[in-house]
Amino acid sequence: MIDLKRNSKKELVPATGKRTRSSSIYKPNQDEDFKISRGKFSDFLTCPRCFYMDRVIGLDAPGTPGWTLNETTDILLKKEFDACRESQTPHRLFLENGLEHLVPFQHPDIDKWRDSLHHGLITRFSDSNIILTGGVDDIWQNTENGKLVVADYKSQANTKELEPVSYLSDPYKEGYKVQIDFYAYLLQQMGFDVEETAYFLVCNADRGANGFKGEMKFQETLIPYRWNSSWIHEKVTEMIYLLNDNNAPDANPSCKNCAYVRQRLVLER
Ligand code: SF4
Repeated sequence: MIDLKRNSKKELVPATGKRTRSSSIYKPNQDEDFKISRGKFSDFLTCPRCFYMDRVIGLDAPGTPGWTLNETTDILLKKEFDACRESQTPHRLFLENGLEHLVPFQHPDIDKWRDSLHHGLITRFSDSNIILTGGVDDIWQNTENGKLVVADYKSQANTKELEPVSYLSDPYKEGYKVQIDFYAYLLQQMGFDVEETAYFLVCNADRGANGFKGEMKFQETLIPYRWNSSWIHEKVTEMIYLLNDNNAPDANPSCKNCAYVRQRLVLER
């Protein structure tokens, strides 16, 4: 996509292709702590080369516009769940789904944990200088055993019936599962007991409505997911190994962005 560089006053400025904030660039074998967010870890899993170009070389990749409609469902859901958090009562969706033993988790840091830009769940990886972070949508609690339940809100507009098996087996949802596995891992590392089942709260917009009339209807579905964090330690170790390497790894051969750049170079030669 076309992404034009603008300064803080929204004026167009020349794009250099490089980031300038040195704290966001890792120097191989540095001793200082360095934060890696869940999103950057996902980038590493998708394409180690792009991750390296971003975190170590400091390239400034084109961005995408914000998903403000999706964010709005998140904000509105947060308000509902916060009201139940305050009263420590089950949310209406818990009652409808036979989950009356759940309540939104009450913790002094819950707002920090949900702030993916400035904080998030946070833990040091083993005895390394890598600090792993991840801004979770919500955390619920099983009142019968005290364990925490990871929750992630998803918005979509799909005409297919929402059903757990087909939802989770879709290759496009692999990244969603990584997200939950990572949050569960962070919570475990922070010393919490985590329930083996997490939930996606999927809000599916009704595309078959008769008209817009200033509103959009959503069907809300809780999709249970049995997370697995056992693979994360090994992958984070690989990621740190790469951060300390002086060479960039190979690109993902399925990536259309790199294929596009290669074709441009050929055509403009
Ligand atoms: S293959 Fe795609 S993701 Fe990887 S470096 Fe190239 S543009 Fe980035």
